[in-house]
Amino acid sequence: MQRALAAAREVRGRTSPNPWVGAALVRGDRVVAEGATSPDGGPHAEALALGGGERGGTLYVTLEPCAPFPGKRTQPCAEAIIEAGIERVVVALLDAEPRVRGRGVEMLREAGIEVEVGDGAAEAEALLRPYLKQRETGRPYVIAKFAATLDGRIAAAGGDSQWITGEAARELAHEQRAWVDAVLVGSGTALADDPSLTARPRGVVSERQPLRVVLDGRGRLSPEAKLFSEPGRTLVATSYEAVAEWKAAIAAAGAQVVECEHDGAGLNLHQLLAALAARGVLSIWAEGGGAVLGSLLEGGHVDEVWAFLAPSIMGGDGLAAVAAAGVARAGDAFRLRERTVEEVGNDILVRGYAGDWSPQVQ
Ligand code: ZN
Repeated sequence: MQRALAAAREVRGRTSPNPWVGAALVRGDRVVAEGATSPDGGPHAEALALGGGERGGTLYVTLEPCAPFPGKRTQPCAEAIIEAGIERVVVALLDAEPRVRGRGVEMLREAGIEVEVGDGAAEAEALLRPYLKQRETGRPYVIAKFAATLDGRIAAAGGDSQWITGEAARELAHEQRAWVDAVLVGSGTALADDPSLTARPRGVVSERQPLRVVLDGRGRLSPEAKLFSEPGRTLVATSYEAVAEWKAAIAAAGAQVVECEHDGAGLNLHQLLAALAARGVLSIWAEGGGAVLGSLLEGGHVDEVWAFLAPSIMGGDGLAAVAAAGVARAGDAFRLRERTVEEVGNDILVRGYAGDWSPQVQ
């Protein structure tokens, strides 16, 4: 199962909107073949591991093998496993996809194959959280990221936000952008920094770029903004009330314009997130600014937090990493679960899960 999990990790995010799955075929005490899901529409992990043409053995797979359902484009893996004469299948997790859940395992058992579920479940679940959230709730998995000083400032009072954290922290952020489906910022950040929002791990522009999403309820973004000329797609979320000429100019710049309702504080994030999930977005890396992260947290949309903290103090009226209304009592603060702390260069990274959602107990 560890080999299957390692194979799945290699393709994390690249198979979206399909789950990233790994499989390992064992005969005797040897792993004789491995496979990981190909990008959308290609063969699944199990099919690749079984591709050698030999028969029998135990197949380890990180997610329940798929069963037939209407509209399915590839051969159901459960069927391929039966045809390959596999004697035993070890599955880490049952599928969250309602059309498959439980049916893959059932099909294998009906064919007389011994099936064991749960080995490696915790690791598979942690790896597949974006997929599980999107299939269970119809909304994407949101990771909120900020880089702040110890006193929680992301920019000085004058707006200068350059170089709060170091090179290693920025590199990690680029690695994250390279696997998620979408990077999200507010128009304030887009206006202040004119970011490219591309994934550039080790300074190289990735072949696969996340969808760039800018929240711009008031229609402030310039059609000349740098992100419109970068590789990859851009989506600008705005309100029905934004000026029509501005929407046309943004669309002419190459972005897709998505209109949402305005709900007093800003764009209706629930509506926007559902629209993104419907487009196959499983994961969102939300980079701020403070107002956007505040609204996402208050709406209960944040599933995971990555807080990069620089060993520095800004003081004064510097901009807060998380703004918007906030909580009235200290006891009501958003708390992270299963948090980890690590040193990243000269900075500290605090990570943890947030919000109410957790994968369904298997
Ligand atoms: Zn499959």
